[in-house]
Amino acid sequence: MQEKGTISIHTENIFPIIKKFLYSDHEIFLRELVSNAVDATQKIKRLALSGQYTGELGDLRVEVAFDEDKKTITISDNGLGMTAEEIKKYINQIAFSGAAEFVEKFKDSKDANEIIGRFGLGFYSAFMVADQVEIETLSYQEGATPAHWTCDGSTEFEITEGSLAERGTEITLHINKDGEEFLSKHRLQEILDKYCKFLPVPIKFGTTTQEEEDGVDEEGKTKYKSVETDNIINDTNPIWTKAPAELKDEDYLNFYKQLYPFSEDPLFWIHLNVDYPFNLTGVLYFPKLKNDFEMQRNKIKLYSRQVFITDEVKDIVPEFLMLLHGVIDSPDIPLNVSRSFLQADSNVKKINSYITKKVAEKLADLFKNDRKAFEDKWSDIGLFVKYGAISDDKFYDKAKDFVLLTNTKKENFTLPEYKEKVAPEQTDKDGKLVYIYTNDPDKQDAFIQSANKKGYDVLLMNSPIDNHFIGHIEHKLENTSFKRVDADVADKLIAKEDAPEHILTEEQSTKVKAVFEKAINRAAYKVQLESLNPEEMPVTVTMDEFMRRMKEMAAMGGGM
Ligand code: ADP
Ligand code: MG
Repeated sequence: MQEKGTISIHTENIFPIIKKFLYSDHEIFLRELVSNAVDATQKIKRLALSGQYTGELGDLRVEVAFDEDKKTITISDNGLGMTAEEIKKYINQIAFSGAAEFVEKFKDSKDANEIIGRFGLGFYSAFMVADQVEIETLSYQEGATPAHWTCDGSTEFEITEGSLAERGTEITLHINKDGEEFLSKHRLQEILDKYCKFLPVPIKFGTTTQEEEDGVDEEGKTKYKSVETDNIINDTNPIWTKAPAELKDEDYLNFYKQLYPFSEDPLFWIHLNVDYPFNLTGVLYFPKLKNDFEMQRNKIKLYSRQVFITDEVKDIVPEFLMLLHGVIDSPDIPLNVSRSFLQADSNVKKINSYITKKVAEKLADLFKNDRKAFEDKWSDIGLFVKYGAISDDKFYDKAKDFVLLTNTKKENFTLPEYKEKVAPEQTDKDGKLVYIYTNDPDKQDAFIQSANKKGYDVLLMNSPIDNHFIGHIEHKLENTSFKRVDADVADKLIAKEDAPEHILTEEQSTKVKAVFEKAINRAAYKVQLESLNPEEMPVTVTMDEFMRRMKEMAAMGGGM
């Protein structure tokens, strides 16, 4: 048997274009070839299960090997194999037409760089690193003969009788000059770790030596011998593929360590598991926040059927959850499209809101089941919750039951609790509730003390997000306004009945006030007499809020 032919594509010079586009992402060839080998293995398993294949399955595994001298990389499997007809159908036509389509679609596109990493070029991506590719394969089918296919990266291929004696496929890449970096144990191991670490079929890459006990010597000491064992690079059953009921806390923590070896333990996690209307599994972890938020972003890894795709999940995970860590796996996220398309994709939208909903439910559970633990974690999770409440109305609707307000005494209240606490004291003349807050407890300490003394509570709102958060809930809560403690807010509240009385008469006060005002002699400042008890703060001098801002701007170089 021998046959020569021409691969049917329109674009004669397809390879140079693909190579140029894919320049920065050559390493994905290995992901594609190994996942094809895994697919072939899963297929023979299914055929055996359904009784369509009755032969021995054998020890199912994929093997990656390389030969530095011959400059080859080989990926072999004992999956279902292919007949010569199937090679023509699947490799020549489909793979190449896919590539042709890719070029047609994107050759003029500015989007190309975004698409590259997501575009499963499949088998064809081998030509990014090889100038010749060979396939040796033997189909599982009764009476199949082995086939050999070779192609030098032009549009010409050749099929001859092959030499494989066992079921399966062996793909050999003759690595080109550009691809020589891949003829290294270290580099291949690195790529396998990145993309193939959780594939469902064992992947062997070389061997490792291990010390094993080997009886005892004459003095009774244990003897050891070195044993070569297969180096299996992957964990075929990562926790996100298991049922939550099978797993213990320890399993989740160990997996976290596996993903982020030098990190502190996470605060808690959420196991995602849905199969309708889309397929999604995964585990998301809430990390302990560090000051350096940027370092902690983009830590979620996206997988598709256990193959690593990217850690750019911006469009799939809601923006406010981008600081979460972990893994999501979904075969329903389109991989071969540009970002703008992804944002508009209906599955991606559904996944996005599913994740939001799950996170809200988990937080609500934590709050309900162990409020103390929830409060202990609030300094870490508060940021997510507030950010989520601002950016997503559906999330706010759930979060309004567990979002906490913290006062300067470090007491936490839910929104209803806080309302109940301050309603009797903190109402202004129009009957509006006034929530007093500080955004700088050190600088504003005098005002805080003064407000507390009058029986008013002061909320701590000094995280980077609090200004936006205040703006948002002020709008959501009815009949409530937020006032910063250093504005003359306390004056406008209806006085508490048992507020400490002034020692001075009205007349005396006016006089003392005048003395201060004269000494300061600036209209921008406002003098308030609090109490003339020498242990307390008798007088506060404040600057009008508007003037204060102007000053600040001037100080910042605003040229005022
Ligand atoms: P995809 O994997 O998306 O179908 P590929 O270009 O990666 O596209 O592969 C094309 C086809 O070639 C596969 O669908 C499969 O039928 C066949 N194929 C590739 N590699 C193997 C293999 N190792 N064993 C059996 N069939 C394979
Ligand atoms: Mg493939």
